[in-house]
Amino acid sequence: MNAQPSTAPEPVPPYVRLQAVSKKFGDFLAVDAVSLEIRRGEIFCLLGGSGSGKTTLLRLLAGFETPSAGRIYIDGEDMSAVPPYERPVNMMFQSYALFPHMTVERNVAFGVEQEGLGRLEVRRRVEQILEIVQMSPYVGRKPHQLSGGQRQRVALARALAKRPKLLLLDEPLAALDRKLRERTQFELLNIQERLGVTFIVVTHDQGEAMTLATRMGVMDRGRIAQVGTPAQIYESPVNRFVADFIGSVNLMEGRVAARCDRDLTIRCEPFGCTVRAARCVECATGDTVWAAIRPEKIVLASEEMPDEALGDNRVRGKVREVAYMGDVSICLVEIDSGKTVRVTLPNRAGLAAQRDLRHAPVTLSWDAASPVILTR
Ligand code: ATP
Repeated sequence: MNAQPSTAPEPVPPYVRLQAVSKKFGDFLAVDAVSLEIRRGEIFCLLGGSGSGKTTLLRLLAGFETPSAGRIYIDGEDMSAVPPYERPVNMMFQSYALFPHMTVERNVAFGVEQEGLGRLEVRRRVEQILEIVQMSPYVGRKPHQLSGGQRQRVALARALAKRPKLLLLDEPLAALDRKLRERTQFELLNIQERLGVTFIVVTHDQGEAMTLATRMGVMDRGRIAQVGTPAQIYESPVNRFVADFIGSVNLMEGRVAARCDRDLTIRCEPFGCTVRAARCVECATGDTVWAAIRPEKIVLASEEMPDEALGDNRVRGKVREVAYMGDVSICLVEIDSGKTVRVTLPNRAGLAAQRDLRHAPVTLSWDAASPVILTR
């Protein structure tokens, strides 16, 4: 048999690359040495609290702001000297900024006409894109004759019609109600697949980021705290900020009492309990750490539950509050130390069973694989 020379696949260069990009407004550092790589065809969501620098980062990419330091590359080209209108980028703003006196069709056609295309080509593109966003029946209407969700789709069509290679969306679905937002999220995924555009989406809404993103970046005070797939960010947050920002979490401060390979024993004084965890973490005996446990990973057992059905960790307490949310109920359990632990229960047994829980003595238990151990 002939031995084939082994050829490793060529690494795909990132489509967007930010290299230690900072932006100062006066003395205020809005974006702080951000380095980030985004691949072609990704839907990359930027998530973070208000004022964390998300919009500023988009504006830097679009060329509406100039970096105070660092470089931005798009498709391998340094953007330092490239003005906004020459970048392969389109940005859809929070306010859709449609022309009020123009019809849907004219609003979408306007940007394409600026590119000097023939009339037939403009018409073809406008028709195609309006069909994709399902706005074909409304071509003759003006913005004030549309709902908020329809206006949002027209703005999206207008941004897409120019066929940007990179589309920057700032809170694109903020004006929509929950149902329409969900539907539009799936439409965006569809559009991304059909047109192959790279999207960078800024959102406050973590559910939206989870649904849309191939990867996401969590921003904290101008810095990127973590980049990863939604599952990586949720299951393996790198610090307390990310753990607490994405979803709900019980954070228990403690000290490493013992470690043996991956098995850690953490004494959580304030919670009056010992947490056993099986995780690869860089820490030594005596270090302060935080055990982060998601509410849905805790089992709430009644007193009668046999011991062998419980996980590696156990704490006793009393249910104080039960909030019925439909698909799940959220229970706040006061454990013996007086601290409160949040537990999410899937609603299998119906409302009556959940109400009965209030004031019930319970044992909380979770597996050693459930807590994430954080050192910062
Ligand atoms: P939000 O989610 O509230 O829109 P954001 O994460 O998008 O917030 P940015 O709009 O990027 O935040 O703003 C980051 C910080 O920079 C904020 O503290 C803001 O006040 C400040 N900032 C933004 N633009 C300017 C400006 N032109 N001049 C001075 N400060 C600014």
